[in-house]
Amino acid sequence: MAAAAPRLKSSNNLRRIMAENYISCASRAQDGKFVVWIAIGVPVDILRGFDVVVSVPENFAAASAAKASAVNLAQDAEAEGYSMDLCSYARISLGSALGEKGGLPRPDLLISCTDNCSLLVKWFDVFRREYDVPHFVLDVPFCYTPQREKDLNYILNQYQELTALLERMTGRPFNEGAFVRAQRLTFEGFGHWKRFLSFAAHRPSGITAFDMFMHMAPFITLRGTETMVEHFRMLADEIQERVAGGVFPVPNEQYRLLWGNIAPWHQIKKMSARLAEMDTNLVYATYGSCIGSVEGEIDPFVTDAPEGLQRTARLQNSTVCPYGLELRHRAMSRMIERFAIDGVVFSSNISCKPYSLMQLDLMNRIKREHNVPAVMIDLDHADVRKYSEANTFLRIEALIEEIARG
Ligand code: SF4
Repeated sequence: MAAAAPRLKSSNNLRRIMAENYISCASRAQDGKFVVWIAIGVPVDILRGFDVVVSVPENFAAASAAKASAVNLAQDAEAEGYSMDLCSYARISLGSALGEKGGLPRPDLLISCTDNCSLLVKWFDVFRREYDVPHFVLDVPFCYTPQREKDLNYILNQYQELTALLERMTGRPFNEGAFVRAQRLTFEGFGHWKRFLSFAAHRPSGITAFDMFMHMAPFITLRGTETMVEHFRMLADEIQERVAGGVFPVPNEQYRLLWGNIAPWHQIKKMSARLAEMDTNLVYATYGSCIGSVEGEIDPFVTDAPEGLQRTARLQNSTVCPYGLELRHRAMSRMIERFAIDGVVFSSNISCKPYSLMQLDLMNRIKREHNVPAVMIDLDHADVRKYSEANTFLRIEALIEEIARG
């Protein structure tokens, strides 16, 4: 049996840059810098045009879930009356903020957006009441077709309102040069990210979906910076070298699966180890694939939109949640074909209703049209209390048996 690949050097780099960013945000905030809390869909590049500290509650919640501190925080929010049916990201982040558990520096401004879900707006509005600071809602239309001009203009107008608000609140003019530099870096980073993901097409795959999940973090918090570009470049180069040298995460890979939902943050180590023991690799995931693509495509987004706000607005509908069934189907079909997928693990995520709402319809269509077996598992991406390893693996084992039978 071939040996499993040693830990990626890029994983050490990831840990270092995320820790440095966390410390730097805390110390800059302590020195009196203006602090903005954003939802992940908010275009960070625009904020690079201001000298502000950017913190992302969803990223904090995901990191807490991966480190197993999430349940205590969620329970604190539940003790304050927040229902266990609410998204676990919200409960974890509210538990930390309301209990003043020292997670993120105190905000001066909150910016949420509606790309992913409307719950985010309500969640950020609790912060607004708690901290008594303004809350800007970026209202983004859902995306069922290529972006319409009227939607683009609607988004653009709101960007202009946002920059005007930031100018008023920070007392500084919008630095368009810094914004465009950040935008270029973001697009450069997309290129390396997609190069990294492309090694999933190799047999055996050069990556696992778990690598994808873990290395998304710089896109969320360090978008538009050299640090993000360098990290993604390092990651893609390292995987390229490994593939050339015959080093693979699941060297005896027999079954290639696709994951359809948010990362199961509390199961990253356990699930990847258990699948590898079964010579099974979760080679790719819908979550994370949309970074750098739009409208159900999986290739890097190429645009002739002029640099500046218009180019950023063109990317605003890029995450999976606002897609209708057609775009989700298109994206998943591309993945199944390009990455030679043998079976799909869909998850019905109790927290994320927008991601999970049409999973059953999508699963039935994918099974029918691509003739690949698929299973649906129940979980919550960040709350381990709503996850059963036994039930999950019962279904995954049944899926593998079905693939093996042909
Ligand atoms: S419900 Fe889904 S889209 Fe909304 S905040 Fe939670 S994880 Fe994100």
